[in-house]
Amino acid sequence: MESNGTFATICQLYGWESFGWDRVFPRNLPMRSSFHSRLINDPFFDPGLFIAFPYRRRALLFDLGDLHALTPRDLLKVSHVFVTHTHMDHFIGFDSLLRILLGRDKEVHLFGPPEFFDRVEGKLAGYTWNLAEEYEQALRLRVTEVWPEKLRTRTYCCRDRFKAGGTQEEAPFDGTLLKEPSFRLEAALLDHRIPCLALALVESFSINIRKQSLQDLDLPVGPWLTRFKKALHERKPPEDGFFVTWEEGGRIMKEKHFILGELAQKIASITPGRKIAYISDIAGRPDNLQKAERLVRNADHLFIEAPFLDRDRERAEEKCHLTARQAGTLARKAGARRITLFHFSPRYAGMGQELEKEAMEAFLH
Ligand SMILES: [Zn+2]
Ligand SMILES: [Zn+2]
Repeated sequence: MESNGTFATICQLYGWESFGWDRVFPRNLPMRSSFHSRLINDPFFDPGLFIAFPYRRRALLFDLGDLHALTPRDLLKVSHVFVTHTHMDHFIGFDSLLRILLGRDKEVHLFGPPEFFDRVEGKLAGYTWNLAEEYEQALRLRVTEVWPEKLRTRTYCCRDRFKAGGTQEEAPFDGTLLKEPSFRLEAALLDHRIPCLALALVESFSINIRKQSLQDLDLPVGPWLTRFKKALHERKPPEDGFFVTWEEGGRIMKEKHFILGELAQKIASITPGRKIAYISDIAGRPDNLQKAERLVRNADHLFIEAPFLDRDRERAEEKCHLTARQAGTLARKAGARRITLFHFSPRYAGMGQELEKEAMEAFLH
């Protein structure tokens, strides 16, 4: 969908007409997004993407390489982690994440390729957990293995010393790993001599708050905005009442009452959702590239590995990785709007620009 899509088109897409929301947002608005994504490290270091949702104290992680560039505050926001595969440069950060989360009353969901349970259980078996039962706050890890046609999930609890136990849940896998009102997470199993997940985050539509309008109405920024966005994402009727609530000077709660649709018209802009895709560690074979292309189709932003120059294509094939040219070509064919490269091989230290140039030439070809 183009960035100048009208709200009426969005209403049509999401079946909102029946709620009368098309009367609320009549204008075209520039495309913005409700999440911010950034590579965790420099392209010569471990791969990984951090996706934060402002105002929601929530984030997603793609890959668990070296996480030291993230603050504990960042890591505490993580609710879901998607590990493409468990080569060391994509999984060594598991311990850093666990270290920060331990002792918290939190459930974190991790997804990985087949045999992910073994890798997670191996990590968990590497520590002594005799004190874990005494933690007042019990961390739970929900771990899902992604197989070509099914998802298998096990839960590991801190209080049980992270022992594998209980029943293993199974669900069909139709390409979607996670579906929430505001976005869905799609994945494909690609080949890297081992199965490797490619990922795409597809936002259903984006609600942007106009700060000036908040000031004009004398409303503070706060957790009520999450409730407000949720109401819109859940397509609550615009005639519904909505209470804006906040604290002032400690505990005193203040509140103002609005009609949901009227408030939305005053403070929010709605734009089509964005799509970001993440491709790391895949063999450049035609069938693999086609699968990747299907997942990436029309992404607004593609984060893609470019470990080798095309002149070293044989080496790339041996290692089951892409060349920069293949990365750029894939992005062009898939209709991606923007690309960011990462996972440069250390053999090109100081030559990052060459990798960029080769990929961009193929992308803009
Ligand atoms: Zn790998
Ligand atoms: Zn790698």
